[in-house]
Amino acid sequence: MPCGFFPMLVLCLLDEKPLYHCGDNNIVRTGKNKRWRKHMSIWLDDMSTTDQRGEENPPHGDEFPSFRFEQISLATHNFSETCMIGRGGFGKVYKGILGGQAVAVKRLSKDSQQGTKEFKNEVILIAKLQHRNLVRLLGCCAEGGEKLLIYEYLPNKSLDATIFDDSRKLLLDWTKRFNIIKGVAKGLLYLHQDSRLTIIHRDLKAGNVLLDAEMKPKIADFGMARIIVDNQQSANTQRVVGTYGYMAPEYAMEGLFSTKSDVYSFGVLLLEVVTGIRRSSNSQTMGFPSLTVYSWNMWNKGKTEDLPDSSIMDNCSPDEVLLCVHVALLCVQENPDDRPHMSFIVFLLENGSTSLPPPDCPAYFARQGAQMEQNRNDIPTLTNSFTLTEIEGR
Ligand code: ATP
Repeated sequence: MPCGFFPMLVLCLLDEKPLYHCGDNNIVRTGKNKRWRKHMSIWLDDMSTTDQRGEENPPHGDEFPSFRFEQISLATHNFSETCMIGRGGFGKVYKGILGGQAVAVKRLSKDSQQGTKEFKNEVILIAKLQHRNLVRLLGCCAEGGEKLLIYEYLPNKSLDATIFDDSRKLLLDWTKRFNIIKGVAKGLLYLHQDSRLTIIHRDLKAGNVLLDAEMKPKIADFGMARIIVDNQQSANTQRVVGTYGYMAPEYAMEGLFSTKSDVYSFGVLLLEVVTGIRRSSNSQTMGFPSLTVYSWNMWNKGKTEDLPDSSIMDNCSPDEVLLCVHVALLCVQENPDDRPHMSFIVFLLENGSTSLPPPDCPAYFARQGAQMEQNRNDIPTLTNSFTLTEIEGR
């Protein structure tokens, strides 16, 4: 099925709940859902068939444009190295100019079966999402085996390329960092609660937050995201995807994901923004196994004021830092029920609070660390920065 068909199909998919889950086998078992899954699989099958036949895209749709491969190729100087601005787990990203507008083009590697699934997922999911803290998907192209996603272009790279870089980190004073934290929280709240769907991102990390010209954050990379039905608290998958260090223990170990597993990732990201320390960085976490454990120990010893990155130490607000660290530590608690909802987190970050409960030891510290480490060692090709796929959760 060609891309021009997306708007109509996406609309009907989004109009009715409960929703589908494309990809995993053991999730959301309701009567209606079976129907949705059938529709989904027909559509996805159709799409692959079209791709295999190499049929061309139809004329542009009104709501969600599909582009011709030729157009994109022209816009990126035939995908030249000089236009390449990044590389992810599923392919390269290029900067191009389309209709006078700067765009980022994600080109899925042709040999990546995994990427095809993520491509379809991403297109369906974010076509209708609109929020100032989410990267806008402008269109797509599926032609002759090529799969391309076209996004608004964000000039200031990803958050991890900024907070962990010695010179770029100076671009982010405390005020900007606090605004980034609040922006990401609002974007995630929209996904969880304020859009018409409940969407679990499943791969929230500093590398998936992009910065616009004013250093405002936008959450990117919805390839792993899943929708769950409104009255459902969590879902389960045997195919655990995500990035170690950001993954909640119940998700990494049991494949259980929910809004609270995103909350866990948000907590880790928040600590990285405050401290400028990577989530697992042996040399910098003072001998503790992870950033969460290190931060919890500092908090427990009443030394939270020593946590901020040295580049912001002098100009940060101690009260705001204390609030951020406290919120982050509540987010990374082992029991998902003990973690706050994003709505409460946004409220806290906007209004402050003096009466929060003390956080428990982070999950990693409490008991899951050894096993997670074990799992990581079992997978020789993993790197810390790329998204992991196909990890069997149990
Ligand atoms: P993974 O796919 O493994 O999670 P990733 O998130 O870094 O890794 P991509 O989403 O493919 O992979 O992005 C790779 C890089 O391309 C980003 O880090 C960023 O530098 C750049 N990039 C992606 N999207 C945009 C965009 N809309 N505007 C500007 N740069 C972008």
